[in-house]
Amino acid sequence: MPQRIIVIGLGCAGSAACAELSRRGAEVIGLDQFEIGHTRGGSAHQSRAFRLAYYEHSGYVPLLSRAREGWIQLNDETSEPPFIETGGLYISHQDGSLAPDSIAAAKMHGIEHVELTARQIRDRWPVFDITDEMIGIFEPLAGLVVPERAVAAHIEIARRNGTQIMERTRVLGWQPYKSGIKVDTSSGTLEADHLVICAGAWAGPLAGPETLDVRPSRQVLAWFDVTHETGIDAPELPVWALELQDTSLLYGFPRMSGLPGPEGFKVARHWPGPTVDPDDVKAMAVQPGDESDVAPHLARWLPKAAGPATTVHTCLYANSPDGHFRIGHHPDCDRVSIIGALSGHGFKFQPVLGELAADLALKGHVDFDLNFLNLH
Ligand SMILES: Cc1cc2nc3c(=O)[nH]c(=O)nc-3n(C[C@H](O)[C@H](O)[C@H](O)COP(=O)(O)OP(=O)(O)OC[C@H]3O[C@@H](n4cnc5c(N)ncnc54)[C@H](O)[C@@H]3O)c2cc1C
Repeated sequence: MPQRIIVIGLGCAGSAACAELSRRGAEVIGLDQFEIGHTRGGSAHQSRAFRLAYYEHSGYVPLLSRAREGWIQLNDETSEPPFIETGGLYISHQDGSLAPDSIAAAKMHGIEHVELTARQIRDRWPVFDITDEMIGIFEPLAGLVVPERAVAAHIEIARRNGTQIMERTRVLGWQPYKSGIKVDTSSGTLEADHLVICAGAWAGPLAGPETLDVRPSRQVLAWFDVTHETGIDAPELPVWALELQDTSLLYGFPRMSGLPGPEGFKVARHWPGPTVDPDDVKAMAVQPGDESDVAPHLARWLPKAAGPATTVHTCLYANSPDGHFRIGHHPDCDRVSIIGALSGHGFKFQPVLGELAADLALKGHVDFDLNFLNLH
């Protein structure tokens, strides 16, 4: 008898969980309160950075190596490849964190990279107006992922393998029941052997706030109209990030045609951001002046690329208190797994998140050391 698994959420984590569980022969039901590809969660809006020289914690690097294999495999399986290798450039003050710690991570894990002085960066990418005290690292295997394509590709694989996809179905709660789990939804009650919670910014109440402390936050991203020749197009410009004085990251993507969504030079800022209720549509709506979250930093560090903002969107982070993911079995019920609190940096891991979800549900353990992401 195949195991029956319910997956809550069909964004980055949930779509990959459905794909991998169904590949391994499970009978899967994937539910989302909205439609596939919606823009109200954390998994839309054209591009996500992928990098290997992770300075946040060295425990992520083995996961990223595996994720990269998964992206390459997914690219081979789909007509619209979600992973685009552009290289990655990370810049910070020499006493900062982003560049020195990424260099240390690259050295520790044998990741291909080039260390750069400010002058070398200015010579090769004149769009950056940086001072002599800044340094950088270029990582050739970095790139970007198109989230719309990645979610669609995983859902297609899941459907091909028999997964029942239920859109516009909200999960209201769950309880252990006999040897399985009962899940109450807006379309009735379902039963399964195992439940996987991949509910992003909404996961706290579903997992129980004492189990998963998720702080949803409102993030702004903007596309700028840059008319003159500035070197911001692919393949000249790689995916890039620059650490600001307050340790937040200004980051962006090379302009390229053929991607879903707005045209222009996409730039945003990675920081915890203001906490919001993810269901508060009014609070999430774009407000006049939202682009000022990004525009002054763009004008300071890439002044030649500081055209007018033509499109602004908001997006949700699902932050943990320390910025690290929370992955594992529910502490009170090992028939429930959680892939949560991806804290604004989870997309690049998508293929390996699917594997972790499938391992937790079907094998009861994972083959990676996830102690640093422990739910306990
Ligand atoms: C602006 C922005 C920029 C980012 N940049 C990067 C980047 O460059 N690189 C990177 O690696 N990561 C990046 N991230 C982070 C990454 O995109 C997220 O970590 C990831 O997409 C979150 O995926 P998720 O599946 O956890 O959540 P989501 O994609 O939000 O999916 C959760 C799903 O669960 C559903 N759901 C919730 N509750 C229920 C319920 N009760 N019943 C049914 N369905 C439910 C929701 O509708 C939603 O579809 C960025 C995020 C944002 C917002």
